Amino acid sequence: MSRLIKNLFALIPAFTYRRSHLAPPVQEPLLANNAADSTVILGAGIIGLSTAYSLSEMSKQTIYIVDPASKACVGASGQCEGAIGDFGVENELSPLNQLSYELYQQLAEQQSGKETFGYSGMDVHALSSHGFNSSDPHLPWPVQEPEDISNLPAWLKVPRGWVAGLIANQTHCARLDPPKFCRFLQKECESRGVRFLFNTTALSAATDASRRTLTGIKVLNKGSKKAMNIPCKNIVISAGSWSEKVFSTLFPSSRLRIPSTEQQPAQDWIRLKIKKPRRSEAGTKGSCQQIWLSADSEDLDIHMSSFLDGEFYAAGGFVDLSDIPDTPDKVTSPSHVTDIIEQNTREFLALGLGETVQAVGSGRALLPRLTTNLPIMAKAAWDDLFPSKTKLQEHSSPIAARPVGDDSDVAGGVFVSTGHYLDGFALGPASGKVVSELITGQSPSVDLSNFGFPKADEESGDSRDN
Ligand SMILES: Cc1cc2nc3c(=O)[nH]c(=O)nc-3n(C[C@H](O)[C@H](O)[C@H](O)COP(=O)(O)OP(=O)(O)OC[C@H]3O[C@@H](n4cnc5c(N)ncnc54)[C@H](O)[C@@H]3O)c2cc1C
Repeated sequence: MSRLIKNLFALIPAFTYRRSHLAPPVQEPLLANNAADSTVILGAGIIGLSTAYSLSEMSKQTIYIVDPASKACVGASGQCEGAIGDFGVENELSPLNQLSYELYQQLAEQQSGKETFGYSGMDVHALSSHGFNSSDPHLPWPVQEPEDISNLPAWLKVPRGWVAGLIANQTHCARLDPPKFCRFLQKECESRGVRFLFNTTALSAATDASRRTLTGIKVLNKGSKKAMNIPCKNIVISAGSWSEKVFSTLFPSSRLRIPSTEQQPAQDWIRLKIKKPRRSEAGTKGSCQQIWLSADSEDLDIHMSSFLDGEFYAAGGFVDLSDIPDTPDKVTSPSHVTDIIEQNTREFLALGLGETVQAVGSGRALLPRLTTNLPIMAKAAWDDLFPSKTKLQEHSSPIAARPVGDDSDVAGGVFVSTGHYLDGFALGPASGKVVSELITGQSPSVDLSNFGFPKADEESGDSRDN
């Protein structure tokens, strides 16, 4: 979300590559389907789901989503705040942000977004103990204009002497409820025939070297311990903070890299409910508000927002994790950290007589950040995936592969869509659309030249950071 906050990570040491070994051979029943036209999407977060959603609109091919977690959006996508919009500092992401916001608005209109996934306009305010300047490190975007405290939502308790400023109004900002939106997307995908394979990990990619095509992907179900080959012509790697690990497992000889930061940033969050139902500001105005605090205390490095249903969300500062577990559900937040966020958020909630605050959720989620500070949304060139002197890994099972350029609507290849960092929810629909356009051989709706695989000298972030 914030380019300013992103820059705080500029000093994180350069990335070191990890290599995984392929798993030993295992029994492998074949999934019956049309080999040539399938796409396997690795990762069931907002980026994977949005890609499946768009691709299923553009193409009749079979689509699989594979994820080692037990359900969709277990990671950042199901835990994030759900703020979207087309405001903020102009940068490389602006055209994508704009497209995404338009797509969200259309979807909300067509699908009764308010009821289906808690869609609502949202005003974004800043509240400061010391006044505003143009480069406040606590705020992700500059304050547009000072505003009267009376403009702030009734649920907010403003400490004496603090001042307020408007960052964006709801013409340019909205919010949705991420878990609800993920459920909506999954259901839509399923109704279009997208198949979900949870508790499942990708082991290796199979290729037809003479035709320079993918022919399948071998996956392992963690529960049954059975491996199977999914015939496919396309693989999309959209595994968030796990994308680099997935890529180097499937394409160990590739000269391309997904330059994840050595330490992965994560953020802690809580969701609160006022126990005794009360007149909610969000309900009164039919919109939501987000408040960014700017104060000298590190503990107050939080922002909070209201949902349409009257619940509140608050997220704290960043932590860097060097060892990340295999699945997002194993990323846990120490309770004292969420306790601090909760205590401080409570201080800013104007409770009525007899009202109490109840925590209804909390957690820690990893943010997929690349050293370039920009996402990758690109197709990997065959020669980069399999440099000529490398012995190619050939699959022994007889999967028919069609030559590139046949009558299928599928171009064929390995696509990467990852590194959306603080903006993944906001960028989801546009990201899904442009990657689906690449897969189906169409020109992308947005110029993707900033979102290719970085050259070696770009990996530090020097040449593409802004
Ligand atoms: C506290 C917080 C608040 C945020 N607020 C906002 C916000 O308001 N607006 C916004 O735009 N963004 C926000 N973000 C950022 C946003 O959540 C992320 O950018 C986005 O969710 C990333 O989506 P993703 O699909 O790339 O990754 P994830 O949601 O992390 O999904 C990755 C998926 O890959 C799966 N995976 C792991 N290993 C494998 C494997 N081997 N094979 C296949 N799949 C695998 C994981 O299980 C997971 O399901 C916030 C983030 C946090 C933490």
